[in-house]
Amino acid sequence: MSAVPLPSITIVSTSLPKVAWGKGIYIHDADGKRYIDGSSGPAVYCLGHGNEEVNDAIKAQLDKIAHGYRYTFTSDPLEELSSQVAEASGMEKSVFLTGGSEAVESCLKIALQYHSARGEMSRRRFIARERSWHGNTLGALSVSGFLERKAAFEGALMPVSHLSPANTYRPPAGVAPENTGEACAAELEAEILRLGAEKVAAFIFEPVVGAAGGCVPAPPGYARRVRDICDKHGVLMIADEVMCGAGRCGTWRALEQDGVKPDIMSVAKGLGGGYIPLGAALYSAKVAEPIFSVYGGVMTGHTFTGHTAACAGGVAVQKIIKRDRLLENIRSLEPKFRVMLREATKDIAEVGDIRGRGFFLALELVKNTMTREPFAAANRLYIRVRDCAFANGLICYPSGGNVDGVNGDVVIISPPYITNEEQLGEIATLLGASIKQAIQQMKAA
Ligand code: PLP
Repeated sequence: MSAVPLPSITIVSTSLPKVAWGKGIYIHDADGKRYIDGSSGPAVYCLGHGNEEVNDAIKAQLDKIAHGYRYTFTSDPLEELSSQVAEASGMEKSVFLTGGSEAVESCLKIALQYHSARGEMSRRRFIARERSWHGNTLGALSVSGFLERKAAFEGALMPVSHLSPANTYRPPAGVAPENTGEACAAELEAEILRLGAEKVAAFIFEPVVGAAGGCVPAPPGYARRVRDICDKHGVLMIADEVMCGAGRCGTWRALEQDGVKPDIMSVAKGLGGGYIPLGAALYSAKVAEPIFSVYGGVMTGHTFTGHTAACAGGVAVQKIIKRDRLLENIRSLEPKFRVMLREATKDIAEVGDIRGRGFFLALELVKNTMTREPFAAANRLYIRVRDCAFANGLICYPSGGNVDGVNGDVVIISPPYITNEEQLGEIATLLGASIKQAIQQMKAA
């Protein structure tokens, strides 16, 4: 196979400042510059930075023992985190891992093992969607629909069916926005039938698409229809909530708001809040039952699965989220934050859409708000926004390629759950100013 290499424009080529310390929603670099963390980095730092309670919990565990290997010991933090997560998510079983890609990888394997346990070895195929991001390991990369991040590895990835993104701002050709959910669900069923249901293991999707789409929530009714289609055809439903889950959207599971429970789900980022690497694959009793009865347990995991100090960090983060009613904070401030973002960008003609859920909002920038035509990728608008914001002391999460894999500019704003109203105002103001500068720069170039 020979093709023209697609260079990455996201990889940072300039030299980076050295991070020095952080407190609350602010980060300081080694030169003394202060940044407001408007995106929790890559939607991770849900409690902000320098939380002493979390640090103390991890230190206390390290002082006892850092790691009890999973085939030798269980531990209080592992058991406590398992119950916290089961209670918060309604998913009965869990495997704790070191991040999102490992979590997704385990979700895919649990789905395969479920079908193997039931004697359906032909169910090996995954269906996913375009404009999705599931991670950087080969399995997770295979199910991802993110051209720029995949192109260099094509030819070595698993065969996966990729469906249209379910995005009411950019519905499939010929589909009215209000029919997007139904049309995309029908596309899933058509693909299951085309492949033969007996060949399909699972459908994996992000309930609110993160980096690849810019906080695109499932259209109304979509997740319910997908749930019914999966059940009808014996296909498992995997919700990848690595970015949108663990409370980011104002409910512990993003999909809770669609009234749907998946069979398997991944979570990471906000689970440990970045204090220590942590992710999880969660699965329902229905999925566990045949696996446990045939194999005795799930055949996934690594040396550091269920790492004791990592679980202790996760327990502390999850306790604080619950005790301090941080999801209520998100739910009550979201409408005000939307108004602030709209106000701060009202005289920017290029803001085409503001969308998302909870503290997981994004702005899409377009050349023409009527036709929704994006700027050409060569303008590097989202990179310009990132750089202008950073120079102005704001960390946000711009991403590109959301329209067709190459073109498209979105800016994700996903502040820590502890962010107050005044700080949200500061973020919105800085963002508005940074977008204006970036557009001026682009037009002058
Ligand atoms: N899934 C989703 C939805 C993500 O957003 C990401 C990372 O951004 C991943 C999986 C991969 O997670 P990680 O980078 O922790 O491996």
